[in-house]
Amino acid sequence: MNWAERISPAVNAVPPSGIRRFFDIAAEMKGVISLGVGEPDFITPWHIRESCVHGLHKGYTAYTSNYGLLELREEIARNILNNYSVSYDPRKEVLVTVGVSEALDLAVRSILSPGDEVLIPEPCYVSYKACVMLAGGKPVPVLTAMEHEFRVTVEQLEKLVTPRTKALLIGYPNNPTGAIMPEKELAEIAAFAERHDLIVISDEIYADLTYQGTHTCFAGLPGMRDRTILLNGFSKAYAMTGWRIGYALSNPEFIAAMNKIHQYTMLCAPITAQLGAIEALRHGKDKMEKMVAEYNCRRQLMLDGLRSIGVSCFEPKGAFYIFPSIKETGMTSLQFAEELLKAEKVAVVPGDAFGLSGEGFIRCSYASSISNLTEALERIGKFVRQRL
Ligand code: PLP
Repeated sequence: MNWAERISPAVNAVPPSGIRRFFDIAAEMKGVISLGVGEPDFITPWHIRESCVHGLHKGYTAYTSNYGLLELREEIARNILNNYSVSYDPRKEVLVTVGVSEALDLAVRSILSPGDEVLIPEPCYVSYKACVMLAGGKPVPVLTAMEHEFRVTVEQLEKLVTPRTKALLIGYPNNPTGAIMPEKELAEIAAFAERHDLIVISDEIYADLTYQGTHTCFAGLPGMRDRTILLNGFSKAYAMTGWRIGYALSNPEFIAAMNKIHQYTMLCAPITAQLGAIEALRHGKDKMEKMVAEYNCRRQLMLDGLRSIGVSCFEPKGAFYIFPSIKETGMTSLQFAEELLKAEKVAVVPGDAFGLSGEGFIRCSYASSISNLTEALERIGKFVRQRL
């Protein structure tokens, strides 16, 4: 029996993740320094872990409302109101999900009909294109360039919008480039969305990891609150990747539609993670800011280190990635990443894993200790100097 033939064409059409493959190779080798993973190297702050354990001791082990614990939804709404002055009703405009990953899947599945197009600036997080395809939609890449600080322009979007365009999917601060968008340019994109009556899915999972300027919440731009499905979560800022907890905020209709899928497929996010998330929002700011300050030091170390090696490098303004150009070596991103791993045992992700415009770059995560980063820079330096 050829079981592979039984797999749905929609699933077959999605290419495997270019990131995972590298982890698998690196995991088999000894002495590898990995700058591949997009995951904090910190353990979740103790008081968050403690509150979860305390909750378990008290017997909080049951399902919650499909929407999530009301207490958590209230904290989420309060947090967004305090940070960005955007107001959401915790009873019908907040949905607690199993990470931003689930929220993203629910967002696209609840709005797309087969063949609907979604504009996606890239390089971008690997799941965007895959989720849109799995929802029956058509991802339309909008290529950005280092020369323009990986920012998307309305001129570019205007060229690619069609009557089938249903949504725009953006993620700033950006994975993999670390780019952010100034408020003025986001406001132009908001006007574009309004002009073409588009829904905007805004993945702001790295919002708290903004090192220069302040983060602009897309839903806070004039007229954008109800048109936007705002996604955020706890994985990155609170070092809670394994807890699997995130959320979506939007108008009551979109949230109810997303919840319709969520209630049948997931039922609710884990109660343990919800308890931890409440504690994170109530008392986690100081510890979170300490981690962000540490990432900022590492960002500077990587930027200075890579530039002194002689590769051109855009200064990342957010998230915990740096995206240097390796074009000067004449190698493709994949060749560079594979040979660097074999020769110097440093794992990075080839830029083309994040879309066509990522070719010629590699993604290095600086969510790793200063000593690891210093050693990695030395090895990358040796590797590059031999090839320039
Ligand atoms: N969005 C972006 C831009 C990411 O980089 C990631 C994880 O790397 C996710 C979403 C997934 O986050 P979560 O752990 O909340 O599912």
